[in-house]
Amino acid sequence: MHILMKNLVVKSLDNKTILNDFNLNIASGETHVIMGPNGTGKSTLSKTILGSNDYTVISGDILVDNKSIIKMPTDERARLGIFLANQSPISIEGVTNSEFLRTALTSITKEKVGIYQFMKEMNSCINDLQMDKTMMHRAINKDFSGGERKKNEILQMKILKPKFIILDELDSGLDVDSLKVVCSNINKYKEEHPDTSILMITHYPRILEYIKPDFVHVMLKGQITKSGTKELAFEIEKKGYEMINAMEEASSYE
Ligand code: ADP
Ligand code: MG
Repeated sequence: MHILMKNLVVKSLDNKTILNDFNLNIASGETHVIMGPNGTGKSTLSKTILGSNDYTVISGDILVDNKSIIKMPTDERARLGIFLANQSPISIEGVTNSEFLRTALTSITKEKVGIYQFMKEMNSCINDLQMDKTMMHRAINKDFSGGERKKNEILQMKILKPKFIILDELDSGLDVDSLKVVCSNINKYKEEHPDTSILMITHYPRILEYIKPDFVHVMLKGQITKSGTKELAFEIEKKGYEMINAMEEASSYE
């Protein structure tokens, strides 16, 4: 899936500009990483792509395979194949994981999903992710640990089979072993669906040892200020964002 964000300006409901002339082009099959300090608008970007009602697109556009999506409601965007693994997945009482996923799958594919076939697939995905079998029948994320919630997001990904995957701080809350399991599941998915595009938000270059990025971007104050490859992530870790930004500004005066 091809995603093009053009001059995006996005405000919160209390009228604060969060994304400020944001531009990013993700070609089909590419993996892009965004790194940036807290509060710079990374999660806002993810939620805006999904069409959250908490944010208003003031100007600019988001094109998916050359078609604008900014007027589409969230369910329509999901049906196109856009998927967000949330930074902080919420829990929902009264709906079990399996009920939720089967309903979501039915609404996305518009086809009736047989219960037997569905349970078989869910079981196999739960195995792949080394999750506890009981998770299927428990309320969504209720009393799940931080790491279990993150695995649950990737379980949704495996079942819903999106074409554009946004991973918002997937690595936060996951221990090293779980991180490896989750990343190998994402890599396997990408191998099986090579046109899938990925936007990964992270603070830690460690995850880039498992998921190989085509591009790494630095985001500051609602826009991308520097782009590079994997090496940029290690440069950030060494020097910090302030230094990277100061160097960027200095070079623009040369
Ligand atoms: P990041 O994910 O990069 O840490 P966020 O996108 O979560 O940053 O937030 C960017 C800034 O916008 C922060 O200052 C945050 O407090 C503010 N913000 C985010 N969402 C809202 C909202 N719904 N209403 C008001 N302010 C918000
Ligand atoms: Mg965030």
